[in-house]
Amino acid sequence: MSQDQHFPAQRQSPPGATDAMTPEPDCGEADYVGTEQLTGRRALVTGGDSGIGRAVAIAFAREGCDVALSYLPEEEQDARTTARWVHEAGRRCALLPGDLRDEATARGVVHRAAGELGGLDVLVNNAGHQMARRGSVEDMTTEELDRVLKTNLYALFWVTQSALKYLERGGAIINTSSIQAYRPSGTLLDYAATKAAINNVTVNLAAELGPRGIRVNAVVPGPVWTPLQPATQPAEKIPAFGADTPLGRAAQPAEVAPAFVFLASPRTASYVSGTVLGVTGGHPVF
Ligand code: NAD
Ligand code: MG
Repeated sequence: MSQDQHFPAQRQSPPGATDAMTPEPDCGEADYVGTEQLTGRRALVTGGDSGIGRAVAIAFAREGCDVALSYLPEEEQDARTTARWVHEAGRRCALLPGDLRDEATARGVVHRAAGELGGLDVLVNNAGHQMARRGSVEDMTTEELDRVLKTNLYALFWVTQSALKYLERGGAIINTSSIQAYRPSGTLLDYAATKAAINNVTVNLAAELGPRGIRVNAVVPGPVWTPLQPATQPAEKIPAFGADTPLGRAAQPAEVAPAFVFLASPRTASYVSGTVLGVTGGHPVF
């Protein structure tokens, strides 16, 4: 696995594209080997075109799972690349462009995913937005706040509600949280708050859905080399990205995906619900 830690200063606009990154992230394309953990399952991965979502899609497909990818329309190229890897693994891939900040679109994505895959067993709420800010909370605009809260929280609620129409006993929901829930950066005040809320929702929903046999968990990544970073952090911050972790480096998306496989698989996680699984490079998740 590539753990190239030379990240030159670079900047993109959100949502960011994989092929504009130097180096391109390692999403497990060359290395991930499946062991039939998810054979015959069907998963919707929001933000599945790139970064952590792409690594999850590749891993799930190699574990025997059909995958639906939700992403923004401008990310079609990244989505098609991910779909190629899913097809190469011999699995079906549904491509579902759409802005999840719109309720009807968010709900429609779920219905299309279930329609194209013939049902849904796993939901990965992974789409997310952040934007590093300078200045005080007093300068924060409602437009910025809306983009972060609608993408990270409203969409998660809408998508989860709609997915519950399809998820049956044995189903699993996995939310992508962040180390920002525990170690918030001042520049990501709003984003960090959404990730703390996602942890709270995860535990709360696990209690509600346990009696229906549906497990709900969260993965808590530390710094991960994905398009989100050059698209939302100042260029000069990129070279030291991840250096402040105990392991002294950022993760590649391929290093985060196995946590999602573990939580999705009834073989490994049939009694795991209401927990957060840290993949943080050493920072605690408590
Ligand atoms: P990424 O940019 O590759 O993925 C994020 C995806 O979110 C985008 O590809 C996009 O498809 C989707 N998205 C954003 N706004 C959307 C909208 N309005 N409608 C539909 N889709 C939308 O970056 P990533 O780092 O892989 O992010 C995946 C998740 O991981 C996010 O929830 C992010 O908060 C979380 N995370 C990332 C890091 C990190 O360091 N990269 C750390 C902790 C948590
Ligand atoms: Mg993307």
